[in-house]
This record gives sequence, structure tokens and C-alpha cells, in this order.
Amino acid sequence: MKYDAVIAGAGFAGMYMLYRLRELGFSAIVLEAADGVGGTWYWNRYPGARCDVQSMDYSYSFSEELQQEWVWSEKYATQPEILRYANHVADRFDLRRDIRFERRIASAAYDENNASWRVATECGETYEAQFYIVATGCLSMPKEIDIPGVERFKGKRYHSANWPHEGVDFSGLRVGVIGTGSSAIQSIPLIAAQAAELTVFQRTAAFSMPAFNRPLQGEEITARKANYAEFRERSRYSLFGVPDLAMDKSALEVSAEERNATYEAAWQGGTLIALLESYNDIMTSTAANETAAEFVRQKIRSIVKDPKTAETLCPTTFPIGTKRPCLDTGYYETFNAEHVTLVDVRHTPLEEVTERGVRTSATEYEFDAIVFATGFDAMTGAIVSVDITGRGGVTLKERWQHGPATYLGLMVAEFPNLFTITGPGSPSVMSNMMVSIEQHVDWIAECMRTLRERGATTIEARPEAEQAWVAHVNEVADATLFPQANSWYMGVNVPGKPRVFLPYIGGVGPYRMKCDEVAGNAYEGFAITTEAGLSAAAG
Ligand code: NAP
Repeated sequence: MKYDAVIAGAGFAGMYMLYRLRELGFSAIVLEAADGVGGTWYWNRYPGARCDVQSMDYSYSFSEELQQEWVWSEKYATQPEILRYANHVADRFDLRRDIRFERRIASAAYDENNASWRVATECGETYEAQFYIVATGCLSMPKEIDIPGVERFKGKRYHSANWPHEGVDFSGLRVGVIGTGSSAIQSIPLIAAQAAELTVFQRTAAFSMPAFNRPLQGEEITARKANYAEFRERSRYSLFGVPDLAMDKSALEVSAEERNATYEAAWQGGTLIALLESYNDIMTSTAANETAAEFVRQKIRSIVKDPKTAETLCPTTFPIGTKRPCLDTGYYETFNAEHVTLVDVRHTPLEEVTERGVRTSATEYEFDAIVFATGFDAMTGAIVSVDITGRGGVTLKERWQHGPATYLGLMVAEFPNLFTITGPGSPSVMSNMMVSIEQHVDWIAECMRTLRERGATTIEARPEAEQAWVAHVNEVADATLFPQANSWYMGVNVPGKPRVFLPYIGGVGPYRMKCDEVAGNAYEGFAITTEAGLSAAAG
């Protein structure tokens, strides 16, 4: 059977894409590697996993009934609650009948003669469709563990992004955690609460702020729901996909007292962006940034009792915000416990995993269990893990060998009718993903509807439009401090990956307006073809 679209992935992007295409009368099938919906929330079941965008923001806005009826229990929802929500959405909109589970896609090849995609699964099935829509997520391909000897370890080995469904009991065990990013920072306090001994291996200290998570009160839920639509609209035209805070001043034009009072209020608010949005130059001026960074370092020093451990936990090698900040519940406090040890692997590098544990340049640590919270091949890893071949047999992996090039993060030249939801070059991970997912899905659905109306068969990014967009993405990033960090935003966490700023930092609102303008100008920058050949409609 030939479909209008094959959608890769049944996370929040894939589910909404299916919903919208069905609404427009397109036939679509979703192929999903897991045996359930939820994407990242299906896989990341480590202790303490929760979203650090507030639950009433991190949810779909497309259905007024859904957003009115669903009741989030906490300020920041846990992974099980978000997965329940994903399952509720799948049932509520009867999505499962068009999702094929346990189908990992091996390859997708564009057939120029039929202007269609042939998508093959690892289990040997083939699906044909006019459009191939990639909804595989930005942080879904765990990066290969680049520490020698991992296979040798005789104890239990876990990865935060592929956690056993039945959970893990660390009671009485000697546990090692490798990594101190968001996943580690959320899980460490809970692992420490069970383990007999916990050793944390830190390569780069992270900036983390308290989440001040709490149950949501009835009145605040009612108040938000009374004008949910208006609130969502503000998020859509914001910088990060949540309503902007007023930032009309430089951090350097106010007194130290005023600055600290502002930072303290932001800290107490318990959100990811309040501190970074306190002033308008924190992400562009090294001196301004340093005031915020030092505020957080002082907090770390005030929480962690051992001064040496506190200093090790203080990030000093990158501006605050240029690596994804973290939200925690009791992370720094955990290092005050007698049975918790911090190992600075910049000082004593990790050499190998052994049969009994982990060896650094200084000593060997013995463990019953090791948790790898070592992160992802972000933004491009999941896309190119499928062997994607475009026009003339070119592979996407080859096209992106020096870094991903897209037009608007939505399409790639030489890959007609291939859409990437929250692809590289779009705000994606620099935003509340739900807002960016809905924006891309709506844009793609409208594009497909327009093509059908015009009797068009293909749409493809023009190379010159793609080059101009890539240049713009870099130009905007280069005006900030982001390129200074060795972050996964820059691809640097994966050995051999080109150093390129992957998302678009120009803001969710301006980006949305640009996408709408392009569509309004007859899909400017895209080539559209009909059966008869190239259309003059596209600029
Ligand atoms: P991550 O932020 O990339 O952190 C990986 C950690 O492992 C880093 O501390 C890294 O050190 C370390 N590491 C990697 N390879 C290593 C090696 N060979 N030796 C020693 N240390 C090594 O990954 P993550 O914590 O899974 O988070 C990734 C992203 O997912 C987050 O930034 C966030 O966007 C998202 N996330 C969100 C939530 C949430 O919403 N609550 C939760 C979890 C994750 P270096 O820094 O030195 O590379």
C-alpha cells in the first residue's frame, strides 16, 4: 500500500503529525522502534526523570478539550506522568491504529521515477509514501560510550536513556555514575538515597539550579485554564517557547546589590530560564554572563560543606547557559553525604572500565553497578542512523559530513518531500519542545495541503536558500557566547562530529514569523514540481 506519508517516531512530534494529517484527509503511517508511544519519555526512565519545562507549558495546545481536561499534578511532571499523558493522547485521538510498533527504520530511499520514498524497517517490511517525515527527536540517539573496556565490567551496567522498565534497586550497592549533565543531576540524589556508596565521575561541572518542584494548586490550574489560549499564544511568539520575561537592561548597568536581588528572585523561582533572562546581555557579553555565573557558584559554595568538593562542582570553563543548564532537587546537597564521593576526571582522567569497576589515572574504583549518563548524539544522530538516500543516490550522512545543512531546519536540498520535525537549524532544543513541535507540524501539514491543492508532487529546498539559512543560523549563534562551550549544542560531545552550532538561537517567535513569511511568499526558497515539471510558483 502507498501512503501519503510515512512518519518516523511516535513521540510527541510523530503523534501530532499523524493527528494533523488525518484531519486533512491524508493517509499516514507511523513507524516506531519501541513497543509504545512517548519517544524520549518512553526510553528515559532513570530515577528522578522529569521534564524541566513546567508541565502546564510542556503539553499540547492543539486541542482545547485536551488541555482543559488533563490535570497535571506537579509543577514539573515526572517521566511516568508524561508517559501517561502520551498514552492518553494516543487513546483519546485513536492514534494507535496507524502506528506500527517495534519497527525500527533501517533505510529510506527517494525514488525519482515515482517521486516517492521507500522506507524499509529492520524487520524486513517496506512502506512507500510520497512524503517521509522524520519525527525521531533531538536527544534520542545515545552517544556511543567512548570509554575503553565497557564490555568487560562484570557488575550491572545501565544507561540513563535506556533504563529497565521494571526499575533498578540500588539498595546496599556500590554505584558509580559517569556524567554530570541533566540526566545524572536528576538521578544522583535518588541513587544516593539507596546506594551504600556512590561515586560520581565529573568531567565538566554543570550549572544547576533548584527546581523547587511542588504539587500544583487547584487555583493556579484554574487560573491558567481560564485563559490557556492566550497564554499559549504568548509562548508561540516568545524567545524560548514560554512567555518571555521583561529583559530591558544590561546586567552591567545596575548595582551589584540590585543584580544579586534579581538573581536571587530568579533562583527562588525555580525555572530554567529566569536567571538567563534576568538581563538582556547575559548570553552575549562575557562580563555580564560572569555576574550570573558567579552568583550560581556562590550558591554552590553555600550549599556544599567541603570547600574542595564545592570548588570542583563550580563550573569555570564555559559561560553559564552555553551548555544546557540543569534543574535539580537536592543535587549539590547530595555531596554533603558521607557515602557520596566526587571524582574530578579532568584531574585524574578516566582510563578504562575494568571487570570490577572504573580505573582513573590515580586508582581503581570497585562497583556493583555503573550508570552511564553520558548523553546523546544530539539533533543529527537519530536522523542519520537511518540510511537516507536522496536524489541521485546521495546519502544524508555524506551531505552532512561537515555539519547539518537545512533550509529552516525543515528540509534538505536534494531530498525532496523529506521533512525533519525540529531538525537542525530550527529552535528545537533551544525552546519548549512542545511549542516547536506544534509549529513545525502545523507548517508541514499546511505545506502538504497546499501542494495537494496545486496538484504538485514534490517540494525541495533550493541549495542557495539552504546555504543562506545555514549562514544565518551561524551568524546569529556567533553573535552570542554559545560557540565558546564544548557542548552537545556544538556537537563537541561526540568524538569526530563537526563543531557546528546545531539549533537556531534566533528565538521561537521570530523563527515562526520567518516560516510563515516563506509559506506566504509561495514557499520562497523551495522548488515545487508538478507532474509537468518545475513550477514557476516557488521563488
Ligand atoms: P549531557 O548533558 O550530554 O551530559 C553527559 C555527561 O556525561 C556530561 O557531564 C559529560 O561530560 C559526561 N561524559 C560524556 N562522555 C564522557 C566520558 N567519556 N568521560 C567522562 N564523562 C563523560 O547528557 P544528558 O544529561 O543525558 O542530557 C542531555 C540533554 O537531554 C540535556 O542537556 C537536556 O537538554 C535533555 N534532558 C532534559 C531533561 C529534562 O527535561 N529534565 C532531563 C535529562 C536530559 P562533558 O560535559 O565533559 O562532555
